[in-house]
Amino acid sequence: MSDSSSDQTLGFSTRALHAGQDPDPTTGAVVTPIYQTSTYKQDGIGGFRGGYEYSRSANPTRTALETGFAALEGGERGFAFASGLAAEDTVLRALLSPGDHVVVPSDAYGGTYRLFNKVLKHWGVEHSIAAIADNDAVRAAIQPGRTRVVWVETPTNPMLGIADIAALAEIAHEAGALLVVDNTFASPYLQQPLADGADIVLHSTTKYCGGHSDVVGGAVVVAHGVTVPWFDGESASDRVAFHQNSMGAVAGPFDSWVVQRGLKTLAVRMERHCDNAEKIVEFLQGHDGVTAVHYPGLPEHPGHEVAKRQMKRFGGMVAFRVKGGEDVAVKVCAETQIWTLGESLGGVESLIEHPGRMTHASVAGTELEVPSDLIRLSVGIEDVEDLIADLKQALDRLT
Ligand SMILES: *Cc1c(COP(=O)(O)O)cnc(C)c1O
Repeated sequence: MSDSSSDQTLGFSTRALHAGQDPDPTTGAVVTPIYQTSTYKQDGIGGFRGGYEYSRSANPTRTALETGFAALEGGERGFAFASGLAAEDTVLRALLSPGDHVVVPSDAYGGTYRLFNKVLKHWGVEHSIAAIADNDAVRAAIQPGRTRVVWVETPTNPMLGIADIAALAEIAHEAGALLVVDNTFASPYLQQPLADGADIVLHSTTKYCGGHSDVVGGAVVVAHGVTVPWFDGESASDRVAFHQNSMGAVAGPFDSWVVQRGLKTLAVRMERHCDNAEKIVEFLQGHDGVTAVHYPGLPEHPGHEVAKRQMKRFGGMVAFRVKGGEDVAVKVCAETQIWTLGESLGGVESLIEHPGRMTHASVAGTELEVPSDLIRLSVGIEDVEDLIADLKQALDRLT
């Protein structure tokens, strides 16, 4: 399903606009149509037109998105799912069996941790938690012969920690395990984990890829030539494809279309998210009600050098801590006007939230618990002066 527009020598935005998206052969429609159909006429039994048989197995709108994702991440094959967690679950069940072990980060999306801790655990998949920014801690958490997957999120949610993808790929591979990277926070525009040695990259496309807070989706891209030794050297792409069809948590045609439209503007949106985030970080650092600012673009951030090497820029996510503890943090979140109090991230509009009580409430009392005075920002693409003025009025009054 690759075409000339998937050529890796083409620039990112050229691929985002053209890979998998040749004009429709019937009408010439420039935009891939929404093929809102469950089934396809066969020309005699088994005579599939273009390989389409039933839309759980494949649908042309989804194929366009999947081809696009593979081109953007530089992988062998892309897959689109109904949500980021559906993508994660499918990949993990394609790779793991009862008795297997996974290393998971000590700072991660709460829902990812919940999947390991509350769902997969009951199916016999065990996990150990390691500080993902500490390569030695990850190495020590690996159980040779049992650890099949090292799971990485970078930058991490919500603490904006940085994992060294290339180093962790080496550590995982030495132990015979695969490295899976959740690239949601960076987006494929800012970070290319497969080029740094990861085996599989995945996204909650709900976030930057969709980019407009109007769709829930997930995507997976498998690197070229990845095989799974503990499944007789089967291709990882084939295993994910089999499980995508067998488990059925696919992206529907309309959602696929919405995510693909988002990808077309990903590069320009990310540049603006980064511009705005840098200015907001500068403002927060100068405010005396703020006790700490977490942003990998800051030279004093412990992961700054690694981030500089593996990211194009430092992204639109910012976290900070305030004077006065949890009560003040909660009030600041509630008293902004332009920043919308809400979960999720990566949309064009700016969002503010309190991880301890919202996105990360599910990790309270675990090793992944987050500081109670922490506020997380998803910096949007509004005029940055307005965003700063709004934060300033809340912080001036409350801290
Ligand atoms: C949101 C998110 C997910 C889960 O994706 P859904 O689309 O909500 O299922 C996974 N990882 C990260 C980093 C996320 O932010």
